[in-house]
Amino acid sequence: MSAAESLSSVAAALASGAIEVIDLTAPLGPDTPVLHLPPEFGRNTPAFRMNEISAYDANGPWWAWGWMELGEHTGTHFDAPAHWISGRDRPDNTTDRLPARDFVAPVCVIDCSAEVAADPDFVLTAQGVRAWEAEHGEIPAGAWVFMRSDWYPRNASAETFLNGGHTPGPSVDCIRYLVEKNVIGWGNECVGTDAGMAHSFDPPFPAHHLLLEQGRYGLASLVNLDRLPPTGALVVAAPLKIVNGTGSPLRVIALAPRT
Ligand code: MN
Repeated sequence: MSAAESLSSVAAALASGAIEVIDLTAPLGPDTPVLHLPPEFGRNTPAFRMNEISAYDANGPWWAWGWMELGEHTGTHFDAPAHWISGRDRPDNTTDRLPARDFVAPVCVIDCSAEVAADPDFVLTAQGVRAWEAEHGEIPAGAWVFMRSDWYPRNASAETFLNGGHTPGPSVDCIRYLVEKNVIGWGNECVGTDAGMAHSFDPPFPAHHLLLEQGRYGLASLVNLDRLPPTGALVVAAPLKIVNGTGSPLRVIALAPRT
């Protein structure tokens, strides 16, 4: 099949509904939970805020628009390599300089929902990834790996979403294994890509430290991962082209065979 025929068949499958478009994005608004760092770091991201410019009124009789106060790492968002000190010196490490080619990629979804239901501090290890591969096949180079935890319904409340810092994520050896596999990045349903307790890992925050060091990416606060198959879906995740951006809120969508 030629590339043109491949694209035509995708378009036909979208039109017929055989391929479903699944939204992996949480609503972005004043209630979007934001991370609060320990007091020694001083500064935090303020909550999302929309400021009205006009609303079909004296300030603009025919139009409505606003301007936003918005953190780079708020809500469903993308981590660029420049976000972490380990990726600081990489070339082309900011959101405006990443190749668009990287914004479309297959995804492997590792279902950890049962383990997380039993233990919110559950950490996925390399052994857990290998067990998944034994069942579903090897993780291909260039794929996203998403950790399904069924955590996302908690995002309706900052308290339950942040859970006092007890949230699931990957181990150090998990991320090392995925870097060896040449994945394009790692996605999590929680406020960040790392586990809540990852400050105590060595190195701390491995999904940030080890992936961004290698020019890979992160996706945080994903939703609807329970609607994705373990393999076979394609993800479109294109951050805003913010000049010198370390990350960006974005709309993440998946194309998946309708089940
Ligand atoms: Mn981030």
